[in-house]
Amino acid sequence: MQILFGGTFDPVHNGHVAMMDALSAAFPHALVHVIPNRLPPHRQSVADSGHRLAMLDLLLSGYERITVDRIEMERDGPSYTVDTLKAFRAEYGPDEPLVLSMGADAARGLARWHQPERIVELAHVCILDRDGQTAETPDVLASMRPVDSIDALAGSAFGCLCRLQTPAVPTSSTEVRGLIAEGIETLPVPQEIHDYISNHNLYRTVND
Ligand code: ATP
Repeated sequence: MQILFGGTFDPVHNGHVAMMDALSAAFPHALVHVIPNRLPPHRQSVADSGHRLAMLDLLLSGYERITVDRIEMERDGPSYTVDTLKAFRAEYGPDEPLVLSMGADAARGLARWHQPERIVELAHVCILDRDGQTAETPDVLASMRPVDSIDALAGSAFGCLCRLQTPAVPTSSTEVRGLIAEGIETLPVPQEIHDYISNHNLYRTVND
């Protein structure tokens, strides 16, 4: 089973780390692929791809079952999740369970993604619900079969919707960039990410 967790990670922060840990714990027999996008379709990233990738590499080098996947960085053009899922399907074959995981906020914006209806036939979806709250199922996922145990996903390759309760870590990359631009030293990011940001003078102004 392959778990996909994509994002801009601009920069990676404690909320992302909590989600990666939750996925790794919930899917003990799977590999979690953290997939930084090369060129966010909906917006520009602030730090360039190289820095975003380097921070993830630094953070995840000690993890055995979480890997940084360069697939979107190495593909030309916008990073569409549907293209990434097709590539995973081609690599792992028709029977491999693929699980696209995303935070509840990302799930809410799913209808604006490129060809969101194709996701249903390419992967399972796991919505990361925070702090006991259950995000509404986006219309575009209405045809998916809800399952209430993670194990149920192992029985098929795609088409199921599960939810994972995760701890609330209320921060965002936008907040981290704002704190740095204000000169605030205490940031909701792991220490090695803090050091990397300082050493490379990243995010000193909100738009750099
Ligand atoms: P930005 O503030 O720049 O929009 P972000 O913090 O939302 O960025 P992304 O890289 O866009 O981070 O998100 C990647 C994934 O991580 C998405 O699925 C998103 O829902 C999830 N995520 C982001 N922040 C948190 C958080 N604090 N807790 C749980 N999940 C999060």
